[in-house]
Amino acid sequence: SDHTLEYPAAPEAIDWDKHYPTFTGSGKVPEFADIGCGFGGLLISLGPLFPDTLILGMEIRVQVSHYVQDRIAALRVAPSTTSSSAHHYQNISVVRANAMKFFPNYFPKHSLSAMFFLFPDPHFKLRKHKARIISPTLLAEYAYALRPGGIVYTITDVHDLHLWMKSHLEKFPLFEYVDEETLRAEGKGPILDAVYTSTEEGKKVERNNGEKWLACFRRIEATRDV
Ligand code: SAM
Repeated sequence: SDHTLEYPAAPEAIDWDKHYPTFTGSGKVPEFADIGCGFGGLLISLGPLFPDTLILGMEIRVQVSHYVQDRIAALRVAPSTTSSSAHHYQNISVVRANAMKFFPNYFPKHSLSAMFFLFPDPHFKLRKHKARIISPTLLAEYAYALRPGGIVYTITDVHDLHLWMKSHLEKFPLFEYVDEETLRAEGKGPILDAVYTSTEEGKKVERNNGEKWLACFRRIEATRDV
Protein backbone atom coordinates (compact mmCIF):
# COMPACT_ATOMS: atom_id res chain seq x y z
CA SER A 1 0.00 0.00 0.00
CA ASP A 2 0.92 3.68 -0.10
CA HIS A 3 3.10 3.89 3.00
CA THR A 4 5.72 1.70 1.39
CA LEU A 5 6.13 4.13 -1.48
CA GLU A 6 7.98 7.34 -1.83
CA TYR A 7 6.25 10.32 -3.33
CA PRO A 8 7.73 13.63 -4.38
CA ALA A 9 6.99 16.34 -1.82
CA ALA A 10 6.07 18.74 -4.62
CA PRO A 11 6.27 18.87 -8.42
CA GLU A 12 9.44 20.96 -8.19
CA ALA A 13 11.15 18.04 -6.42
CA ILE A 14 10.75 15.79 -9.46
CA ASP A 15 13.69 15.23 -11.74
CA TRP A 16 11.94 15.06 -15.11
CA ASP A 17 15.30 14.60 -16.86
CA LYS A 18 15.26 11.01 -15.60
CA HIS A 19 11.95 10.46 -17.36
CA TYR A 20 12.69 12.41 -20.51
CA PRO A 21 16.50 12.50 -20.89
CA THR A 22 16.52 13.94 -24.40
CA PHE A 23 14.53 16.94 -23.12
CA THR A 24 17.14 17.83 -20.48
CA GLY A 25 17.58 21.57 -20.32
CA SER A 26 14.32 22.23 -22.19
CA GLY A 27 12.56 23.34 -19.01
CA LYS A 28 9.57 21.28 -20.09
CA VAL A 29 7.24 19.49 -17.68
CA PRO A 30 4.47 17.02 -18.52
CA GLU A 31 1.61 18.70 -20.34
CA PHE A 32 -0.63 15.67 -20.93
CA ALA A 33 -1.58 13.38 -18.02
CA ASP A 34 -3.13 9.94 -18.49
CA ILE A 35 -4.67 9.02 -15.15
CA GLY A 36 -4.85 5.26 -14.60
CA CYS A 37 -2.93 4.64 -17.80
CA GLY A 38 -3.02 0.85 -17.48
CA PHE A 39 -0.77 -0.78 -20.05
CA GLY A 40 0.12 2.49 -21.76
CA GLY A 41 -1.70 2.28 -25.11
CA LEU A 42 -2.67 5.95 -25.08
CA LEU A 43 0.86 7.13 -24.26
CA ILE A 44 2.25 5.13 -27.15
CA SER A 45 -0.37 6.47 -29.57
CA LEU A 46 -0.04 10.10 -28.54
CA GLY A 47 3.76 10.18 -28.25
CA PRO A 48 4.51 10.37 -31.98
CA LEU A 49 1.52 12.69 -32.58
CA PHE A 50 2.88 15.30 -30.14
CA PRO A 51 6.66 14.95 -30.38
CA ASP A 52 7.36 18.20 -28.52
CA THR A 53 4.92 17.57 -25.68
CA LEU A 54 5.85 15.64 -22.55
CA ILE A 55 3.22 13.04 -21.71
CA LEU A 56 2.97 11.24 -18.35
CA GLY A 57 0.93 8.21 -17.35
CA MET A 58 -0.02 7.54 -13.72
CA GLU A 59 -0.71 3.96 -12.75
CA ILE A 60 -1.31 2.58 -9.27
CA ARG A 61 -0.47 -1.08 -9.95
CA VAL A 62 3.25 -1.69 -9.48
CA GLN A 63 3.60 -4.50 -12.02
CA VAL A 64 1.56 -2.66 -14.60
CA SER A 65 3.62 0.51 -14.20
CA HIS A 66 6.79 -1.58 -14.57
CA TYR A 67 5.37 -3.15 -17.69
CA VAL A 68 4.75 0.32 -19.16
CA GLN A 69 8.27 1.42 -18.19
CA ASP A 70 9.76 -1.61 -19.93
CA ARG A 71 7.53 -1.11 -22.94
CA ILE A 72 8.69 2.50 -23.34
CA ALA A 73 12.34 1.57 -22.79
CA ALA A 74 12.07 -1.04 -25.55
CA LEU A 75 10.41 1.40 -27.93
CA ARG A 76 13.15 3.95 -27.33
CA VAL A 77 15.89 1.57 -28.49
CA ALA A 78 13.91 -0.19 -31.22
CA PRO A 79 15.22 0.26 -34.75
CA SER A 80 13.08 2.63 -36.81
CA THR A 81 10.86 0.73 -39.20
CA THR A 82 7.79 2.92 -39.33
CA SER A 83 7.29 6.66 -39.01
CA SER A 84 5.92 6.07 -35.51
CA SER A 85 8.91 4.06 -34.35
CA ALA A 86 11.28 6.61 -35.90
CA HIS A 87 10.00 8.92 -33.21
CA HIS A 88 11.68 6.95 -30.38
CA TYR A 89 9.08 7.77 -27.72
CA GLN A 90 11.37 10.06 -25.74
CA ASN A 91 8.42 12.22 -24.69
CA ILE A 92 6.33 9.57 -22.92
CA SER A 93 6.84 8.20 -19.43
CA VAL A 94 4.98 6.69 -16.50
CA VAL A 95 4.96 6.96 -12.71
CA ARG A 96 3.63 4.40 -10.28
CA ALA A 97 1.33 6.56 -8.17
CA ASN A 98 -2.05 6.72 -6.52
CA ALA A 99 -3.51 9.63 -8.47
CA MET A 100 -6.37 10.03 -6.02
CA LYS A 101 -3.95 10.85 -3.24
CA PHE A 102 -0.89 12.31 -4.91
CA PHE A 103 -1.98 14.00 -8.13
CA PRO A 104 -1.04 17.51 -6.82
CA ASN A 105 2.47 16.29 -5.96
CA TYR A 106 3.17 15.80 -9.65
CA PHE A 107 1.47 18.62 -11.55
CA PRO A 108 1.92 22.33 -10.78
CA LYS A 109 -0.68 25.00 -11.39
CA HIS A 110 -1.80 25.34 -15.01
CA SER A 111 0.89 22.96 -16.26
CA LEU A 112 -1.49 20.60 -18.09
CA SER A 113 -3.31 21.14 -21.38
CA ALA A 114 -4.94 17.70 -21.45
CA MET A 115 -6.02 15.10 -18.91
CA PHE A 116 -7.28 11.64 -19.78
CA PHE A 117 -9.55 9.33 -17.79
CA LEU A 118 -9.99 6.38 -20.10
CA PHE A 119 -12.15 3.50 -18.95
CA PRO A 120 -11.58 4.15 -15.24
CA ASP A 121 -12.55 1.52 -12.70
CA PRO A 122 -16.31 1.85 -12.16
CA HIS A 123 -16.64 0.99 -8.43
CA PHE A 124 -20.25 -0.02 -8.86
CA LYS A 125 -21.40 -0.14 -5.26
CA LEU A 126 -22.75 3.08 -3.81
CA ARG A 127 -20.49 2.98 -0.75
CA LYS A 128 -17.55 2.75 -3.12
CA HIS A 129 -18.44 5.84 -5.12
CA LYS A 130 -15.97 7.85 -3.13
CA ALA A 131 -13.33 5.62 -4.69
CA ARG A 132 -14.16 7.01 -8.12
CA ILE A 133 -11.47 9.07 -9.77
CA ILE A 134 -13.88 11.92 -10.58
CA SER A 135 -15.31 13.64 -7.50
CA PRO A 136 -15.81 17.27 -6.44
CA THR A 137 -12.64 17.31 -4.33
CA LEU A 138 -10.52 15.75 -7.01
CA LEU A 139 -11.99 18.02 -9.68
CA ALA A 140 -10.66 21.02 -7.76
CA GLU A 141 -7.18 19.51 -7.97
CA TYR A 142 -7.57 18.76 -11.67
CA ALA A 143 -8.83 22.31 -12.38
CA TYR A 144 -5.83 23.74 -10.56
CA ALA A 145 -3.34 21.74 -12.64
CA LEU A 146 -5.13 22.34 -15.95
CA ARG A 147 -4.55 25.59 -17.75
CA PRO A 148 -7.55 27.55 -19.00
CA GLY A 149 -8.50 26.06 -22.36
CA GLY A 150 -7.19 22.63 -21.33
CA ILE A 151 -9.36 19.60 -21.98
CA VAL A 152 -10.48 16.73 -19.74
CA TYR A 153 -11.25 13.63 -21.79
CA THR A 154 -13.35 10.89 -20.19
CA ILE A 155 -14.57 7.69 -21.79
CA THR A 156 -16.18 4.56 -20.36
CA ASP A 157 -18.28 1.60 -21.38
CA VAL A 158 -20.24 1.82 -18.13
CA HIS A 159 -23.20 4.11 -18.75
CA ASP A 160 -23.82 4.82 -15.07
CA LEU A 161 -20.20 5.88 -14.62
CA HIS A 162 -20.45 8.08 -17.72
CA LEU A 163 -23.44 9.90 -16.21
CA TRP A 164 -21.61 10.22 -12.90
CA MET A 165 -18.45 11.73 -14.40
CA LYS A 166 -20.43 14.00 -16.71
CA SER A 167 -22.70 15.33 -13.98
CA HIS A 168 -19.82 16.06 -11.61
CA LEU A 169 -17.89 17.86 -14.29
CA GLU A 170 -20.99 19.81 -15.35
CA LYS A 171 -21.59 20.93 -11.79
CA PHE A 172 -18.04 22.11 -11.31
CA PRO A 173 -17.78 25.84 -12.10
CA LEU A 174 -14.39 25.68 -13.82
CA PHE A 175 -15.39 23.12 -16.45
CA GLU A 176 -17.71 23.43 -19.41
CA TYR A 177 -18.94 20.60 -21.59
CA VAL A 178 -17.52 20.51 -25.09
CA ASP A 179 -18.93 18.17 -27.70
CA GLU A 180 -16.93 15.85 -29.89
CA GLU A 181 -17.75 17.74 -33.10
CA THR A 182 -16.39 20.99 -31.69
CA LEU A 183 -13.18 19.30 -30.58
CA ARG A 184 -12.74 17.65 -33.99
CA ALA A 185 -13.25 21.05 -35.65
CA GLU A 186 -10.44 22.36 -33.42
CA GLY A 187 -8.09 19.70 -34.76
CA LYS A 188 -8.34 17.33 -31.81
CA GLY A 189 -9.63 14.45 -33.95
CA PRO A 190 -6.41 12.41 -33.66
CA ILE A 191 -6.57 12.72 -29.86
CA LEU A 192 -10.21 11.61 -29.84
CA ASP A 193 -9.45 8.66 -32.10
CA ALA A 194 -6.74 7.59 -29.65
CA VAL A 195 -9.12 8.07 -26.73
CA TYR A 196 -11.61 5.71 -28.38
CA THR A 197 -9.32 3.00 -29.66
CA SER A 198 -5.71 3.12 -28.45
CA THR A 199 -5.96 1.61 -24.98
CA GLU A 200 -6.08 -2.01 -23.96
CA GLU A 201 -9.41 -1.48 -22.21
CA GLY A 202 -10.86 0.32 -25.23
CA LYS A 203 -9.84 -2.58 -27.47
CA LYS A 204 -11.42 -5.06 -25.07
CA VAL A 205 -14.70 -3.15 -25.17
CA GLU A 206 -14.53 -3.28 -28.97
CA ARG A 207 -13.97 -7.04 -28.99
CA ASN A 208 -17.05 -7.41 -26.80
CA ASN A 209 -19.05 -5.04 -29.03
CA GLY A 210 -19.59 -2.77 -26.02
CA GLU A 211 -20.68 0.83 -26.26
CA LYS A 212 -18.31 3.70 -25.46
CA TRP A 213 -19.48 6.87 -23.78
CA LEU A 214 -17.33 9.96 -24.30
CA ALA A 215 -17.56 13.18 -22.29
CA CYS A 216 -15.09 16.03 -22.68
CA PHE A 217 -14.82 19.28 -20.78
CA ARG A 218 -12.89 22.49 -21.23
CA ARG A 219 -11.19 24.13 -18.33
CA ILE A 220 -12.55 27.68 -18.44
CA GLU A 221 -10.96 30.90 -17.32
CA ALA A 222 -12.40 32.13 -14.04
CA THR A 223 -12.94 35.84 -13.39
CA ARG A 224 -10.75 35.48 -10.35
CA ASP A 225 -8.62 32.50 -11.16
CA VAL A 226 -7.49 29.90 -8.65
N1 SAM B 1 -6.83 3.67 -19.10
C1 SAM B 1 -6.43 2.30 -19.32
C2 SAM B 1 -7.14 1.73 -20.52
O1 SAM B 1 -8.04 2.38 -21.04
O2 SAM B 1 -6.78 0.62 -20.94
C3 SAM B 1 -6.67 1.42 -18.08
C4 SAM B 1 -8.11 1.22 -17.67
S1 SAM B 1 -8.25 0.17 -16.24
C5 SAM B 1 -9.89 -0.33 -16.22
C6 SAM B 1 -8.14 1.35 -14.91
C7 SAM B 1 -6.71 1.57 -14.47
O3 SAM B 1 -6.63 2.59 -13.49
C8 SAM B 1 -6.07 0.33 -13.88
O4 SAM B 1 -4.86 0.06 -14.53
C9 SAM B 1 -5.88 0.71 -12.41
O5 SAM B 1 -4.77 0.06 -11.83
C10 SAM B 1 -5.70 2.20 -12.51
N2 SAM B 1 -6.03 2.94 -11.28
C11 SAM B 1 -7.10 2.73 -10.47
N3 SAM B 1 -7.09 3.60 -9.46
C12 SAM B 1 -5.98 4.38 -9.62
C13 SAM B 1 -5.43 5.45 -8.87
N4 SAM B 1 -5.99 5.88 -7.75
N5 SAM B 1 -4.29 6.03 -9.34
C14 SAM B 1 -3.71 5.58 -10.47
N6 SAM B 1 -4.19 4.57 -11.21
C15 SAM B 1 -5.32 3.98 -10.78
